[in-house]
Amino acid sequence: MHGHELSPSTIAVGAGRPDRVPGGPLNAPITLASALVPGGASEYGRAGNPTWDSFETVLGALEGGRALAFSSGVAASAALFDLVPMGSVVVAPRHAYYGTIAQLTERNRRGQVELRLVDIDNTPQVIAACEGAALVWIESPTNPALEIADIESIATAATKAGAAVAVDNTFATPLRQRPLDLGADFVVHSASKLLSGHSDLILGAIVANDDRAYAALEKRRSVLGAIPGAMETFLAARGVRTLHVRLDRAEANAKELHRRLSASRRIVYSRYPGFGTIIAFEVVGGPTAAQKMTEQSDIITYATSLGGVESTWERRRRHPGEPESVPEGLVRLSVGIEDVEDLWTDIQNVLAAIA
Ligand SMILES: *Cc1c(COP(=O)(O)O)cnc(C)c1O
Repeated sequence: MHGHELSPSTIAVGAGRPDRVPGGPLNAPITLASALVPGGASEYGRAGNPTWDSFETVLGALEGGRALAFSSGVAASAALFDLVPMGSVVVAPRHAYYGTIAQLTERNRRGQVELRLVDIDNTPQVIAACEGAALVWIESPTNPALEIADIESIATAATKAGAAVAVDNTFATPLRQRPLDLGADFVVHSASKLLSGHSDLILGAIVANDDRAYAALEKRRSVLGAIPGAMETFLAARGVRTLHVRLDRAEANAKELHRRLSASRRIVYSRYPGFGTIIAFEVVGGPTAAQKMTEQSDIITYATSLGGVESTWERRRRHPGEPESVPEGLVRLSVGIEDVEDLWTDIQNVLAAIA
């Protein structure tokens, strides 16, 4: 109909809407139902709900595969780990999201998998670890260290070694990185972050490019009951409608703040991968100063999580589960869509207060 490939912005706004029928809604309504009339896609609310479809369709279209929503990001990764044959090798980044590492180390301890932790930005090291693996898990950029993986080279080597490749694309979103195009088999998301974008829900997703794997994951979701809520998927689909606009603005803010932080003599270093909305930095004065500054800001909220329209920050190591390799004073700043001068004034004020 269009004669050309639609841009991601247009897909974000338009994909997954109901068929246009006179008097019908433009958005998929929230269907609250445990039981559905037999003869359709599902007849029990744990197997399917029409409200999930809208979010799954738009995310699948953006990533270039078929998406499944889960109750959370960790429920999505758990469903995928469940498909790994007993006792097989899983390769994962040393600094992956700590909920991912927690699941894998537990499975390793129980003998369900053999975990090989790697420095994901060290491509030769990762490729060497792929030998004999069943699953290579990539997160890029990593949370909170912001390391970048060479997804294409790793996926090529992993596929050759017979391993499946999954990429946690939470930080990049499909607007900055499409792992399936780079050779990955699965994309995993915490939709609690940038996709929904308003810090008001917990939701996860997996996108697969293979129908058999998709069916296996859908079955896992139903068997485990790791299903999303109708309200959450409705809100997440609504969030995706503005993803490109939010991301452009927050990214522009993040670039500018990183530039100014890097030039500040109160900052030891600021790290920013060049895209996305997350900055990691350390301040002169170490963990005590970092803790104090994050608690004292006016506009930037002292809070965990990330990817919302509002800027938030925290000292990551205050969480007991955070790996010890994350510096104690590291501040993770999730940049929102406020005015950049207001954000910078806020940062300057707290930096002055801890000096
Ligand atoms: C938050 C997060 C997760 C976990 O998602 P939940 O929705 O909190 O379960 C996984 N990966 C990354 C990179 C995250 O930031």
